[in-house]
Amino acid sequence: MTLDTITRYDPDRISRRDGHALVVGASMAGLLAARVLADGFETVTIVEKDRLPAGANTRPGVPQSRHIHVLQRAGQEMLDDLFSGYTEELTEAGGLEIDAAVDFDVYTEGDFLAKGPVRMPMYCASRPLFESVTRQRVAALENVTIRDHCQFIGLVTDDGASTVEGVTVRSRGDGREIDADLVVDATGRTSRTPTWLENNGYTPPPTDVVTIGVAYSTIVLERDAADRRALVVFPTPPNRRGCATFPIEGGRRVLTLAGYHGDHAPTDPDGFADFADSLPVPDVRTLLEDQEVVSEDIAFYPIPSNRRRRYEDLEEFPEGLLVVGDAIASFNPIYGQGMSVAALEAAQLHHTLATDGRDGIALPFFERAGRVVDEAWMLSTGADFKYPETSGPRPFGTGVTNRYLARLTRKAHSDWRLAEAFGRVGFMETGAASLFHPRIAWRVLKPGR
Ligand SMILES: Cc1cc2nc3c(=O)[nH]c(=O)nc-3n(C[C@H](O)[C@H](O)[C@H](O)COP(=O)(O)OP(=O)(O)OC[C@H]3O[C@@H](n4cnc5c(N)ncnc54)[C@H](O)[C@@H]3O)c2cc1C
Repeated sequence: MTLDTITRYDPDRISRRDGHALVVGASMAGLLAARVLADGFETVTIVEKDRLPAGANTRPGVPQSRHIHVLQRAGQEMLDDLFSGYTEELTEAGGLEIDAAVDFDVYTEGDFLAKGPVRMPMYCASRPLFESVTRQRVAALENVTIRDHCQFIGLVTDDGASTVEGVTVRSRGDGREIDADLVVDATGRTSRTPTWLENNGYTPPPTDVVTIGVAYSTIVLERDAADRRALVVFPTPPNRRGCATFPIEGGRRVLTLAGYHGDHAPTDPDGFADFADSLPVPDVRTLLEDQEVVSEDIAFYPIPSNRRRRYEDLEEFPEGLLVVGDAIASFNPIYGQGMSVAALEAAQLHHTLATDGRDGIALPFFERAGRVVDEAWMLSTGADFKYPETSGPRPFGTGVTNRYLARLTRKAHSDWRLAEAFGRVGFMETGAASLFHPRIAWRVLKPGR
């Protein structure tokens, strides 16, 4: 499910407000879940183990926040739906609106994609800025409380563990229970819900793991005010290396070097520069020569695999419990999907509350969330299987699809309509099936370079 197929958020669909919802984790998925739950519950509490910064700073519970984060159009539109004026606030806080049709260069399959005449707005900021603007909007809701420095310890249930009735937390050294009518696990990739299910007599979700051995190495550079350029170099087999650099707030740009299957950029400056030299375009080396590095060190983040927990396949689930965001599925971030998936899932949570109500909410929600994850998972893991070392369950037809997409992107070096169609899939505006539409397919399959 993508921007063109999702039903948009409509606050008039929910009027009843009672009960208490508790969200564990105040990162993007938790904040967005809290936002939609605030329409239907009298009070919403978010518990977060980190001490939350006042502004746009990194924090230990979200270690990926030091790395490049792209907000796809789908996520941006959802955020604007949920928080009217979100993108204006983001740009007022220093984020940039760029025109992808002008400022965004994408290198793949041996060349840059052609540029078209159609404007494609894109919002660039650091991950901490996206989160802090979101957090401020959620904190401003009169029925939402964010408790930081408050660690979730476990679920509280009725005797048979059929209904979750709250959580136990540890806050500033003290343990306590908090009652809740609904608990939402937004603790990210390390979520312990599958283990809890198993320990309490439930079937845990079947889990797909696609091993990719990717790692990100990231620095922050100074940026001239007029420099708004964004660049992505997608790894193209047999080369395993790629990079991305985007302008961010504060006259800076973030630069990430990435490699598949153990081919990782070193975290010492010379090794980092050598890796940059080995990329198929000279642009990154030029950046490193021309701009001062402002980050203290080179941040490193290993991403061994894509991981999808198929909650939508379960037939039984405790009452009063939900899971959202990376706790359901975390993807190879090269395609920049996680925050947008969290935002689309929030819209699906809103529709589930409006349509199915709270009783037995989990299974209908997981079914809807699964449709969001399907598209992102197929795109991300499909491309990962271009490398023979990638292991795990292959989406059906991956080989043929990858050959078709390789031809499409090569033709898109000179055909801007193909480049635009490809971009709209990457921005999660529309699904990958759109690339097989006859209007596109004939441009791909017709003879010629
Ligand atoms: C290197 C990297 C780059 C990425 N790049 C992009 C990108 O370009 N675009 C994009 O859209 N997405 C990207 N993502 C994905 C994106 O970061 C996530 O999808 C997004 O943050 C949503 O995650 P989440 O909120 O589900 O979980 P997380 O961000 O992992 O947050 C989990 C939260 O739960 C809290 N928590 C955990 N345990 C407890 C506990 N016991 N008690 C209380 N609190 C707890 C944590 O402190 C944290 O705040 C990237 C990810 C990585 C790893």
